[in-house]
Amino acid sequence: MGEWKSIDASLVQRLAKEMDPTHLEEDCAMSQYTSFRAGGRAALLIQPGSMAELFSAVKILGAEKVPYMVMGNGSNLLFKDEGYDGAVIRIGEGLSRVFVEGNVIFAEPGVKLSQLAKIAAEHSLTGLEFACGIPGSLGGAVYMNAGAYGGEMKDVIIGTSALKRNGRMCDRRDEKLIFGYRSSVFQESDEILIGVKLLLKSGDSEQIRRTMSDLNAKRNQKQPVSLPSAGSFFKRPAGHFAGQLIEEAGLKGLQVGGARVSPMHAGFIVNEGGATAQDILDLMKIVQETVLETSGVALEPEVRIIG
Ligand SMILES: Cc1cc2nc3c(=O)[nH]c(=O)nc-3n(C[C@H](O)[C@H](O)[C@H](O)COP(=O)(O)OP(=O)(O)OC[C@H]3O[C@@H](n4cnc5c(N)ncnc54)[C@H](O)[C@@H]3O)c2cc1C
Repeated sequence: MGEWKSIDASLVQRLAKEMDPTHLEEDCAMSQYTSFRAGGRAALLIQPGSMAELFSAVKILGAEKVPYMVMGNGSNLLFKDEGYDGAVIRIGEGLSRVFVEGNVIFAEPGVKLSQLAKIAAEHSLTGLEFACGIPGSLGGAVYMNAGAYGGEMKDVIIGTSALKRNGRMCDRRDEKLIFGYRSSVFQESDEILIGVKLLLKSGDSEQIRRTMSDLNAKRNQKQPVSLPSAGSFFKRPAGHFAGQLIEEAGLKGLQVGGARVSPMHAGFIVNEGGATAQDILDLMKIVQETVLETSGVALEPEVRIIG
């Protein structure tokens, strides 16, 4: 058990009065909820089953001044081994409703991107094919402005609703979303995305399905999808590819403990089994220092490191 300061029994009791107690887990191993399958624990994990539960949790955590953070599907996160002394609100299945109206989709943030791309295809809507193999939730994808194969979330998002820490709502659209390469306004605003509006184009559902299956085949061929990772570990530096720089520095296959620079795709750090967060961070540091020496390029992690 962790030595947590932020969470006490009375807080958990208060939360349990407002929500299904099975949606609360104290001293939770976050490796279960992250695609790296590594890292430390959190003092409390909250998995809201509805908007009402999310709002209640935010209200109580705010009133009690408990530190908290939000996560989606955990496919771009690494919790340090020391863990997170606060509450992690995991937005998933409980907040994953999707409504389609013509070419517009309204979706809650917990829906998986793969599922959303499938729903778009069923409605003969094109524009989201690029996202079908990104293993994140919609909320995490908007937060990161996730992208692949020439598409980015910013191409299809026309509006968002978010919950501020003070309990107020904030709606945004168009340029107010301030999307950049793997970035959005939400990385600065510290809000919880609760609704997303996407605009797609009418297309042919068979063609959309074919494109998605081709992209997934490409992904399976080029990426080490069978081992735990958080995808590309580093952001793409301007004018370069991180994987290529790492390979040119002779680091492909380099291992620290259970963490390894993937021999298949040097842009990925994979967990070969039993990696600690520290193994991954030590390997990250070696890669950054060596690439800086050999090519003069400073690699920045795309993965969000917590703790
Ligand atoms: C095998 C593999 C392949 C990948 N391929 C790609 C790829 O092709 N392109 C790409 O861009 N990424 C890729 N990724 C990385 C990752 O899937 C994306 O960054 C994804 O968008 C993260 O979504 P998530 O729900 O898992 O977010 P998490 O990892 O849970 O969280 C990421 C960040 O988003 C924030 N966040 C999550 N939900 C919310 C919310 N509702 N409100 C506010 N903030 C929120 C969190 O606080 C955190 O800072 C890959 C990862 C893996 C493991």
